[in-house]
Amino acid sequence: MTKAPTGTRLKIMVCEKKQRPILGALGLVAALAGANAEAQDPYARERQAMLNAIAAMARDTRVETGREKFSERVMTAMAKVPRHRFVPAAYQALAYANRPLPIGQDQTISQPYIVALMTELLDAKPGDTVLEIGTGSGYQAAVLAELVRRVYSIEIVEPLGMKAQTLLEQLGYKNIAIRIGDGYNGWPERAPFDAIIVTAAAPQVPPALAAQLKPGARMVIPVGGQNDVQFLQVLVKQSDGSITTQMNLPVRFVPLTRAD
Ligand code: SAH
Repeated sequence: MTKAPTGTRLKIMVCEKKQRPILGALGLVAALAGANAEAQDPYARERQAMLNAIAAMARDTRVETGREKFSERVMTAMAKVPRHRFVPAAYQALAYANRPLPIGQDQTISQPYIVALMTELLDAKPGDTVLEIGTGSGYQAAVLAELVRRVYSIEIVEPLGMKAQTLLEQLGYKNIAIRIGDGYNGWPERAPFDAIIVTAAAPQVPPALAAQLKPGARMVIPVGGQNDVQFLQVLVKQSDGSITTQMNLPVRFVPLTRAD
């Protein structure tokens, strides 16, 4: 009885002795790699914390969204885009917090979880052409540009659209086109789209946007008035042209405004 545990303990000790230097070396390599990544990207750790917060919220909302976690593809895109570049200087310290932030002109950059959720619900494929209404800071457009072939984005507030365009060019995104105007009418010259994402709440689904979806394509859009409960809807265009609603989640977005 006493022999077996002693033998076992001994074995473990031997194992430990043999493995410790290897583990130690690996640990050192990992630490150096981490330090190196951080030297190159001082926001790497904060971005990882943001991903953890998104994953935790995805688990908490699994009943409402029907998904326990977001796809690798979406999380990898979220890990890649430097969110701090899309946030005003005064909010740098909060750039990776899981919350919306002001971007000027009374507008906001959406909470990271909402960006990830909407991107996930869009279910866009690598070859897709996607239309976004509400460029804002350009952050959601950048996340999409990591995932699809081409992104078209419309912003009604000119200074925001111009700023986003300059930043996205600086960051090297070549597959995003931005237009200043009222996105209510979509972008007919570039239609039809494989997916449409609207990042401001509309009282009803704009008919022109529904018309610019390909058969089988999806639209993710918050629907509801400014003082009503808004619902994030996932709409799918059927082959007969009709639109079905696949999901309804209570949310809060800035309103979709109209050109005078
Ligand atoms: N997607 C943005 C967040 C957008 S906030 C980001 O990642 O930062 C919503 C944006 O929609 C605002 O910038 C607002 O100006 C814009 N917007 C509101 N109504 C619009 C309309 N009719 N057409 C185009 N953009 C609109």
